[in-house]
Amino acid sequence: MSSSTMTPPGNKVTGDYIEEVMTTVRSKNPAEPEFHQAVQEVFESLRLMLQKHSEYRAARILERLVEPERVIMFRVPWFDDQGSIQVNRGFRIEMNSAIGPYKGGLRFHASVNLGILKFLAFEQVFKNSLTTLPMGGGKGGSDFDPKGKSDNEVMRFCQSFMTELWRHIGPDTDVPAGDIGVGGREIGFLFGQYKRLANEFTGVLTGKGVNWGGSLIRPEATGYGCVYLAAEMLKTRKESLEGKLCLVSGSGNVSQYTVEKLLDLGAKPITLSDSDGVIYDPDGIDREKLAWVMELKNVRRGRIRQYTDKFSKAIFMPTDIKLEHNPLWNIKADCAFPSATQNEINAKDAANLIKNGVRVVAEGANMPSTLEATRMFLDAGTLYGPAKAANAGGVAASGLEMAQNSARLSWTREEVDDRLHKIMVAIHKTCYETAETYGTPGNLVNGANIAGFLKVANAMLDQGLV
Ligand code: NAP
Repeated sequence: MSSSTMTPPGNKVTGDYIEEVMTTVRSKNPAEPEFHQAVQEVFESLRLMLQKHSEYRAARILERLVEPERVIMFRVPWFDDQGSIQVNRGFRIEMNSAIGPYKGGLRFHASVNLGILKFLAFEQVFKNSLTTLPMGGGKGGSDFDPKGKSDNEVMRFCQSFMTELWRHIGPDTDVPAGDIGVGGREIGFLFGQYKRLANEFTGVLTGKGVNWGGSLIRPEATGYGCVYLAAEMLKTRKESLEGKLCLVSGSGNVSQYTVEKLLDLGAKPITLSDSDGVIYDPDGIDREKLAWVMELKNVRRGRIRQYTDKFSKAIFMPTDIKLEHNPLWNIKADCAFPSATQNEINAKDAANLIKNGVRVVAEGANMPSTLEATRMFLDAGTLYGPAKAANAGGVAASGLEMAQNSARLSWTREEVDDRLHKIMVAIHKTCYETAETYGTPGNLVNGANIAGFLKVANAMLDQGLV
């Protein structure tokens, strides 16, 4: 059955469909502002396309897309090193499986709640669709914060978390990965407990160690992919990253490999940050300094302010919650790579970036720009790579890890990197061309949202009312 011919009867097609669904989203999901924001951004792009295609409205695709297929919420009790009982909350949002098993990261951070994970799971559906690989969308995590915890505490927490999660996931059902607070160490502990409970060795998680089923380039993929996309965007204006001054926020997985790939392509990264503040190094963060940061963050688990003790030309600007803007985005540069967390660029930050002449914003983090900031970049003609496109390299490499696990093979570093690069070029092309088709050339937000939507929505039409 062709998706375009199937228009289920019975639903009247009247009024402003988008406003109608948005109102329901707000009232049915109160106190979830990030989820509302993510849905609204997608819906605003879809308006253009829905005018031409009544079949999606007739099949109530938007109402179905915003309702997770399944939400799992559970208690995670564990003992800390003092022998005291701690209780956290665990989640898995299985958002949409129209084009493949649920796929998306686990976030461990004190700020995690249902609304944050629903926004991330919703975004993930469209992002995964853009990768060209067969992956549905999901996201999960906990309000557990690994910062300041011992390795043993993190292990006991991960084991307790997986003791519930394992029954809901599987290599053909739902395949989690890492996100904020979940790196190689946590994936190891989670995988160990899954294997023990399920009594099987399968590709149930991605981001695994390379000697036990992981893929080369998976740790690098989100940062590398984001820089590949920025390079593609610059090419449309006959420019390259060579010699460009770059602002990078965060100092975790995405930030570290963004800096590495920027150095590979001849750019000069000059900032990093964490929740305590920002470091600015006017001399640039070179390979030696990056290696030091990786050791600081991934082994010693220290704070970014320590950078200025080691490299004396750099300055540290502590986080000031009274400030209405982040000083990182007010440093003069050519490119910006927000790679920490959601809503880290507000309207004032966007104004500062635009005033300082930033040409490219490529979003390594998920939804790092507020809706207002996004509109300002688009209005200013900034080359703006939205998260769904710009950070899709991570999940794309996870998809490649799944493929290697299924085939019981390991590809070389060059092969995975080459596939990742081709996927990022294809994502840029799809978003660019889709934006043009729908009359908004250069608007990659519309391009990503419409292209991501079409593949999932057509699969949903084909599969009937499920
Ligand atoms: P990570 O390794 O845990 O690093 C996160 C970084 O962001 C840390 O430097 C952290 O500082 C900072 N940060 C987190 N929350 C913050 C806040 N509220 N205010 C200021 N700084 C904050 O995580 P990651 O994997 O790099 O993820 C970073 C972003 O990329 C997230 O938005 C994530 O969803 C997105 N992403 C990641 C992947 C992936 O493959 N890992 C893929 C796609 C998208 P502290 O240490 O002080 O908290």
